[in-house]
Amino acid sequence: MRLLIATTNPGKVREYKSLLAGLDLDLVGLKDIGINIEVEENGSTYIENAELKARTYAALSGLLTLADDSGLEVDALNGRPGIHSARYAPDSAARIQKMLAEMSNVPDDQRTARFQCAIVLAWPDGRTQAVLGTCEGLIAREPRGTNGFGFDPVFLPYPALYQKVGGTPDDMPEHSATMAELSEDFKNTISHRAHAAQKVRAILATMALRDA
Ligand code: IMP
Repeated sequence: MRLLIATTNPGKVREYKSLLAGLDLDLVGLKDIGINIEVEENGSTYIENAELKARTYAALSGLLTLADDSGLEVDALNGRPGIHSARYAPDSAARIQKMLAEMSNVPDDQRTARFQCAIVLAWPDGRTQAVLGTCEGLIAREPRGTNGFGFDPVFLPYPALYQKVGGTPDDMPEHSATMAELSEDFKNTISHRAHAAQKVRAILATMALRDA
């Protein structure tokens, strides 16, 4: 069966191919099936935005469709930029500089943050199912690393805090790895998208058993 990944970004299709590997599904992106209509993400939560996209593209394509929406919530900024993460500044470098400037006076123990990811599956008959995934961490004082995208160079994920050195809490956070210093494979085991995708994998596997 085909599963439409509601994105025009080939990197994201590749990421989901890895996250959902082993299921009997043929993953395709919007470009693969010639859809170039954009959906306005005007919901007030990650789930609402993902659902808008999933429902629209499932109806247009007639395929089971997966859409996601994600963002970074920083406690010292009262949860900003959150669902507005992509629009926080014009490009990734500007977004990082703006965040570091806004947080220049925030001490290490108050730099807590989390990536959130909502994934919605929509069936062409209108049914939907939603899941959430989270990755907790800290905002670094300067960017490091070249892997990944977005806020990865300033995000120190808790699951990787001692990835780079066998440190003590006193080393934290200067000596720990940013998300952009992790391999793609490792990021795919700890990220917000990975945690949400694990839940989607369970839903799709159950569906396959039921339909068998
Ligand atoms: P999207 O919903 O996946 O397009 O993500 C919205 C925005 O959240 C992106 O433009 C990034 O700024 C941020 N973001 C989401 N996921 C990640 C991630 O895994 N790493 C870094 N930034 C992310």
